[in-house]
Amino acid sequence: MTEDQANQRILDLRHQIEYHNYRYYILDDPEVTDAEFDALFRELKALETRFPELITPESPTQRVSVGGVVSEFPKVVHEVPMLSLSNVFSPEGLGEWNERALKYLDKRFDFEYTVEPKIDGLSVSLLYENGVLVRGATRGDGITGDDITPNLKTIKSIPWNLKYRDGSDDPIPTRLEVRGEVYMPISSFEKLNKELAEKGEKLFANPRNSAAGSLRQKDASITAKRPLNVFIYTLAQMDGGPDLKTQWEALKFFERLGFRVAPDIKLCQDLQTVSNAVQNWIDRRDKLDFEIDGSVIKINDFATEDRLGFVGRDPRWATAYKFPAREAVTRLLGITWTVRRTGTINPLAVLEPVSIGGTTVKSATLFNIDMIERLGLRINDPLLVKRAGDVIPNVVKVMDERRTGEETPIELPATCPSCGAPTTRRPDEDGTNDPKLYCTNDPYHCPFQMKDWIFFFSAVRGVDGMGERIAHRFYDEGFLKDYGDLYYLDREKLLALDRFGEKSTDKLLKQIEDSKQKPLDNLLMALGIPHVGVKSAEMLANHFHSLANLEAADVEAIASIKGMGRVAAQSIVEFFQNENNQAVLKKVKEAGVRTEDPIEEDGGPKPLAGKTFVLTGNLVNYGRKQAEELLKRRGATIGSSVSKNTDYVIAGAEAGSKLTKAQQLGINILDEDAFTRLLQD
Ligand SMILES: [Zn+2]
Repeated sequence: MTEDQANQRILDLRHQIEYHNYRYYILDDPEVTDAEFDALFRELKALETRFPELITPESPTQRVSVGGVVSEFPKVVHEVPMLSLSNVFSPEGLGEWNERALKYLDKRFDFEYTVEPKIDGLSVSLLYENGVLVRGATRGDGITGDDITPNLKTIKSIPWNLKYRDGSDDPIPTRLEVRGEVYMPISSFEKLNKELAEKGEKLFANPRNSAAGSLRQKDASITAKRPLNVFIYTLAQMDGGPDLKTQWEALKFFERLGFRVAPDIKLCQDLQTVSNAVQNWIDRRDKLDFEIDGSVIKINDFATEDRLGFVGRDPRWATAYKFPAREAVTRLLGITWTVRRTGTINPLAVLEPVSIGGTTVKSATLFNIDMIERLGLRINDPLLVKRAGDVIPNVVKVMDERRTGEETPIELPATCPSCGAPTTRRPDEDGTNDPKLYCTNDPYHCPFQMKDWIFFFSAVRGVDGMGERIAHRFYDEGFLKDYGDLYYLDREKLLALDRFGEKSTDKLLKQIEDSKQKPLDNLLMALGIPHVGVKSAEMLANHFHSLANLEAADVEAIASIKGMGRVAAQSIVEFFQNENNQAVLKKVKEAGVRTEDPIEEDGGPKPLAGKTFVLTGNLVNYGRKQAEELLKRRGATIGSSVSKNTDYVIAGAEAGSKLTKAQQLGINILDEDAFTRLLQD
């Protein structure tokens, strides 16, 4: 290859890579697979290695690290100060802000508003001259910031060169300053913290801290390794571009120029619509992969904005509707140990009560003993806890700097808090391999294990009325010694209990009666046999067609089923050999519970016929192929990309652009739990 040919190919590759970057990072709609993209990138790198004189600073290969290491960030004086915003906390506060603006103009206006998510990240300014990124800076104090151009250049969604993506030949502004928010996706933040913990390094408190810490690296090559992203939302100044009259036009203009703009920004004609849009963000807050701490409401018309001006440094024409806080610092009072069905003994943090977003929080989940060790947790520790949605809060980190010296180590229990048997420590068998603490007794000799088993069995069987507390209570009352007793509950005895009216009692009994007709795989799943999940329960039911056949099977027969492992086969045989289990199963059978499936030639009903599913991210309990197979067997069609024709998106951990797209299109999104329930229906 001559240098001329190489140069042609290099230009072509750069053009392609830049285009695919745009599809991937800005539009979230890639046209090529990651592997195809990597191949282009590798080819470019190889050519540039062979012809180093052809490397230019604009080459995408240079994005990973430009500028080298600085000892001090140069200062930047913002030509247009970077504003702060006034805050409101309620629809009433929003109304008052609106009234103040109207009153200031001294006449009745019909304002239009934009409602944007308030990203909890780091504000930055990007300056382009003749379409080329010449400077990127932090907000600093709003007047003076730090020049972090090399760091910002490593963020793939920040364009280095502006051009109209719609092919328009409008002039590129000779000078353009835009502002936006750099953030770290929540999934990336969690991954980063996990890696830091494994290396024994200090954790970041939240995605904003990790974004700030990553962006303000003196060595930009460290920034390049951190998965940062950006949303652009403000036009600070422009010379020589189109005449923009509104914020809405500015946002559309940003998109045309290849900037990344937050999804679902609304243009609203009245305050009620604004409130609805804000509420919509509050509702979706926990489902997003970026942290938002509010909504920003701006009066759309630039001319009106100019007339409204500022109070101090806050514009009258915009305000931030702040959402309830979700984090608080409190103290660890102690640990409660709960024993689950499988014998695991799990820690629950007992907290000094603290109010988070209007709710009093008294406990937080710690997941497992590994977490105690990873966080370096001690009794009396000052903790940062976070509450998202209605789930039980979790501990983010220990606030080391607030320790007082009163902290004492946490002792792992040597005996089971339920039955007193010795505890043992071994890796979890759920595939995570997290070290866990176990009770060495079986459920027939450990009350907490059996209570949890009864609850689990009921939940899988669709007996929603048997909540955790009720399952425990019935056990304590002696109504249930095991899950087999579920089918022999005495209506009169239940009615004699406090808070058991006829209506709720009959509803519960009907659910139990109805559960008798559930298919075999549901029963097998509900038994809670170690190593038997939804998928293997289904395989067993398909293969054996009856509980009796399965009980009679030996390890060889079970392990010979495609997809069943020996460990599971062994576990199944042991389960049915256990005399206690046999006694409970006898009760189940005698109660008339269905233990056989009819043998169907066509593979059973097709409840999902006509529905299109797209899968994204990693599921914990299913392989991708397996999940697709389960759906297909129920008549579903599997799509490869999200479109308006998609009915459901199943999103596992680290779901990417498909999830974002589904959110934008308003497609039903199922997490793994919902997917499992769908399979059980
Ligand atoms: Zn125990």
